[in-house]
Amino acid sequence: MNDILLRMYYCLPSCAVNVAASLYGYYQTRIRYGSLWERMVPVIEQRDGWTLDQWREYQNDRLMFFLKRAVTRVPYYRRLHECGRFPVEDVKSTDDLSILPILEKDVVRLNPRDFIADDCNPSKLISEQTSGTTGKPVLTFWTSATYQELFAIFEYRLRRWNGVKYGDNWCMIGGQLVVSQKRKRPPFWIWNHPCRQLYMSNYHLAPQFLDYYLDEIKARKIVYMLGFCSSMDVLAIHALERNRTDIKFEFAIGNAEPYLIHQRDRIEKAFQCETRDSYGCSEGVTHAYECAYGNLHLSPDVGITEFIGQNGEAVPPGEAGELVCTGLLNPDNIFIRYRVGDWAIAGDPGWQCQCGRSMPIIKKVEGRTADMIITPDGRRIGLIDPVFRGNLRIKEAQIRQVKAEEFVICCVPCTGFDDSDKSVIMNRFRDRVGCVKVRFELVDRIPRGNNGKFKFVVNECYQTLTRSEQPSVENSSRSGTLM
Ligand SMILES: [Zn+2]
Repeated sequence: MNDILLRMYYCLPSCAVNVAASLYGYYQTRIRYGSLWERMVPVIEQRDGWTLDQWREYQNDRLMFFLKRAVTRVPYYRRLHECGRFPVEDVKSTDDLSILPILEKDVVRLNPRDFIADDCNPSKLISEQTSGTTGKPVLTFWTSATYQELFAIFEYRLRRWNGVKYGDNWCMIGGQLVVSQKRKRPPFWIWNHPCRQLYMSNYHLAPQFLDYYLDEIKARKIVYMLGFCSSMDVLAIHALERNRTDIKFEFAIGNAEPYLIHQRDRIEKAFQCETRDSYGCSEGVTHAYECAYGNLHLSPDVGITEFIGQNGEAVPPGEAGELVCTGLLNPDNIFIRYRVGDWAIAGDPGWQCQCGRSMPIIKKVEGRTADMIITPDGRRIGLIDPVFRGNLRIKEAQIRQVKAEEFVICCVPCTGFDDSDKSVIMNRFRDRVGCVKVRFELVDRIPRGNNGKFKFVVNECYQTLTRSEQPSVENSSRSGTLM
């Protein structure tokens, strides 16, 4: 929507806003949940029973098709191939991918249409953009068919793995500014009737408004919630503080931000629900969904996920590596060995999860590449949320690395916070990071980024500390906007 339309939208009365949301919902239903989507959901379900060999065979076949299409139909790869810098002839399977160059995000950002196959009509493609943490989003393009396949994967692995389905009432809390930021009284949400979606604003979570949020969730009989983990946690803290036990739903699915352990504990307790994590990349080259046994399974039909170390080589399972992904879902907008901008730890290949699925595991998503702590002895640490686990009297926290050996821990205290909480946090932090200078600050609120996302770790000296290393992208693709 352009700025003028947006300003007009924010001036509409609430009932008209819901009509506008529902009209948009009809459009979403048409492009996402059509007849192909219906046919694809059982196909995705059947893949749950595939063995690791079946997945390998599927990935190899798709990779060969994508590589051939890339060098014959996609302008960027065709040029690289013609000048000998994209030797697809030497790639016989997914094991050989590392001979191809890594694609940096800035290259796509500068000319996104260079990655569209030339037998597509760009005016008929659906375009999506990443949330763009630095204000420079990446555009991606989808045919209606591929888009429905993408949503069939969401449907099966995000919803049906958890016993819920499209058509159930659900609540989304994400980065879209659905009501004017100036609004001072409810509603702070919109109801998208065709999608049965209550989209709640992430920008009005002030203490005086939180009961309105909880009342609306109750009134709409919400079955599951999906969204920024930090925002669901704000609601959970409020429900616990007010002893509100009247809000219950089945699942709270984390999206777009790492799910911190203490957030999960509080959300499960407050809403008497289970929590599930998900990991996605807006470019559609890697997805992962958590099963009932707490394991985050990669979706091999979305893409090939490599875990690359600082030397550019693959890291062994159990070690953190940067995600470099090759999309296998969208043959019309091809990204090969795309540096996503997040670090994660791979599970052991072939390890069998109790859920019975053989889809590989991500042990842990460490988070945004440029927002990892780099310890004085050179270790990189993404999520150190165990520092805040347990019954500490804090609402939120953020860790900032301001110099190589200097950190600031900012905490928003709960009632009853005292020095014993502070000392537990400081000790646990030093146990993990080492003997460093730490300043402890109590604050009223942790500021969110322009896209509404909460950052648990902020590294203010990342560029200085990594100047001698491989070039690295600055922003994560972690998706929070598609749903
Ligand atoms: Zn599993």
